[in-house]
Amino acid sequence: MSDDFSDINALHWQFDLLGSIEVGITVLDRDFNVLVWNQFMENNSGILPSQIKYKNLFEFFPEIDKEWFLVKTEPVLNLKSPAFIIWEQRPYLFKFDTSRPITSASDFMYQNVTLFPLTSLEGVVEQICIVVYDVTDEALNKKGIESLNQQLKQISRVDGLTGVFNRRYWEEKFALEHKRILRNGSPASVLMLDIDHFKKVNDTHGHPAGDYIIKTLASVVMQSIRETDVAGRYGGEEFAVLLPETNAENSLIVAERIRENCEKLLPVYEGIDIPFTVSVGVAEFDSSYIDHMGWLEKADQALYTSKKAGRNKVSKF
Ligand code: GH3
Ligand code: MG
Ligand code: MG
Repeated sequence: MSDDFSDINALHWQFDLLGSIEVGITVLDRDFNVLVWNQFMENNSGILPSQIKYKNLFEFFPEIDKEWFLVKTEPVLNLKSPAFIIWEQRPYLFKFDTSRPITSASDFMYQNVTLFPLTSLEGVVEQICIVVYDVTDEALNKKGIESLNQQLKQISRVDGLTGVFNRRYWEEKFALEHKRILRNGSPASVLMLDIDHFKKVNDTHGHPAGDYIIKTLASVVMQSIRETDVAGRYGGEEFAVLLPETNAENSLIVAERIRENCEKLLPVYEGIDIPFTVSVGVAEFDSSYIDHMGWLEKADQALYTSKKAGRNKVSKF
């Protein structure tokens, strides 16, 4: 067998190999003209090798950010070092549809991409080889798990009835914030709120009506505070609110606003008016409050003062 013939034979199986493997392979020259375009690339782009060969890659794929791509390929061409693009950084290099458009939850193919230099016999990099891996299934699995984890985290932090933080998570945030305040000495206040004569609401109108009033109070609280304030459902019909960067004077204004809004609201549940009021206790942070629960205790004492003074009141420790 002549050398020529075995060369052609080798070329033949190499072409078969290029065509049948389930990864994309394209080779570009230093000006990004396409020299090789395998079956995978053809199938997924709908572009025939005869259409794209010796043409510039960017003409066919305007979605490739040219500047970014030049930066990415620079070390491949000049330092002979391979480069990688993973889907987490950039979901794809070539905008291809997924291989299973009906069953896939993604509109496009997630890709991992390897770029490596092809050197001539003289050791000069003349071409760049791009290998494209379809990692759509892997990406969707990972994203699915992440979003599930995110949902679980959210569920474990939030009170199911009202949508504000639950006691456990609120206390966690409160403890952290307390540490920060202890360090930097900025002002902060905490509020404790409790619905007045709530047993009577339940007894007169039933538990679901009571739940409705608890939800109503939560939304009044959320509408009365800033985004940086942290509200939580502390107990049955008790709420706690942390107000960072807020001194006693300003937190009394917030507390008074909540109290007044509740009084004026007159909620209606299943056609029946259910007026309600709240009592509030306010405690501004003091550097002697080394323990966060000691600080909260002061707000609770102030709340007790409001209750003793006849309810529907705001008191400061
Ligand atoms: P006070 O003015 O002294 O606060 O009187 P109160 O009747 O509100 O007394 P207290 O705060 O002790 O009562 C809380 C009541 O809240 C008792 C409990 O049955 C009711 N409760 C606790 N959790 C829930 C809940 O999730 N839904 C409903 N509907 N009621 C609840
Ligand atoms: Mg209570
Ligand atoms: Mg109460």
